[in-house]
Amino acid sequence: MNEVVVAESVGKTYGDTVALDGVDLTVAEGEVFGLIGPNGAGKTTLIRALTGTTPVTGEIRVFGSEPAAVDADRIGLLPQSFSPPARLTARELIDYYAGLYETARDTEAVLADVGLSEDADSWYETLSGGQQRRVCVGTALVNDPDLLFLDEPTTGIDPAGRRSLWELLESLAAGGTTVVLTSHSMAEVQRLSDRVGLLQDGQLVAVGTPSTLIADHGGTSRLVIGTETGHAAAEALGTAGFSATASQAEVVVDGVSPVDIGEAVDVLSAAGISYDSLTWTEPSLEDVYLQLTGESFEGAATPGASVVSEESTESPTPSVDSAATGGEK
Ligand code: ADP
Repeated sequence: MNEVVVAESVGKTYGDTVALDGVDLTVAEGEVFGLIGPNGAGKTTLIRALTGTTPVTGEIRVFGSEPAAVDADRIGLLPQSFSPPARLTARELIDYYAGLYETARDTEAVLADVGLSEDADSWYETLSGGQQRRVCVGTALVNDPDLLFLDEPTTGIDPAGRRSLWELLESLAAGGTTVVLTSHSMAEVQRLSDRVGLLQDGQLVAVGTPSTLIADHGGTSRLVIGTETGHAAAEALGTAGFSATASQAEVVVDGVSPVDIGEAVDVLSAAGISYDSLTWTEPSLEDVYLQLTGESFEGAATPGASVVSEESTESPTPSVDSAATGGEK
């Protein structure tokens, strides 16, 4: 497989601050690489390094050349903060950015791609935050890049617009475009990325496909029981052989597969323990993030989660029905 991006021992300091500390990274042609990490971990600095907009130590090759020497027509970049002139319309802005390249895509096609055909004649400043961000994404697509860097592309975009941008990025990737993205949304990273790299304190501490990262660092599937009597519940479950830990108003039972839920519920019923909710979750990238950084990934969704409450009529297993009965106060 062709390697589009190769970084070796990349380092960057700002005074005493170490922004990048020995980063090794390769991104293959057609791959979507998601970069995650806490604020200040070095994500933006790494994107700047890979696009040749900040000098670094170490070695970086993009399409076999130094980043700054790569033909601009081949790279698209959407920075995290990007404020185009406010008194130009969406169409004028796409046209303007298209004019910066020797060959550019048709403006109407780019507007359609980012879902702005109908609002193309609105000034940038009158568009909603999400529409503005879509214009910005459009400016990164005008040159039909082979390699696309997107620093938080969907910030401020509503869920429907976000999903249509995901589909657009998926179709670009399917067509061979290589994408490096950062995101504030773990659901976005998990859905789009072929591989994910976790940056922490300037170091790439874990790299892999979402499923390998989850298998290596995500822990097991678990049942979370919302209950006022957490310690009694944990004791009853522990006696029955479950690995249960009580915290404030809940009990977390690790290593519970769906077929074990009924047994856990029976244990609670037999012990006369009432509860407010049962939530079964599969490990996700969110758990990987929590495990490796010690922080939760703010605003992230947990795609594997399903919630069953007493009011719920959609019980995933018959045994959860009996949970509802057993859980009544
Ligand atoms: P992230 O994008 O993961 O939030 P950044 O790459 O923006 O992280 O920042 C990494 C570290 O480098 C942080 O400690 C940040 O304060 C510092 N940093 C980034 N840019 C500059 C700069 N221009 N001047 C000084 N320090 C900077």
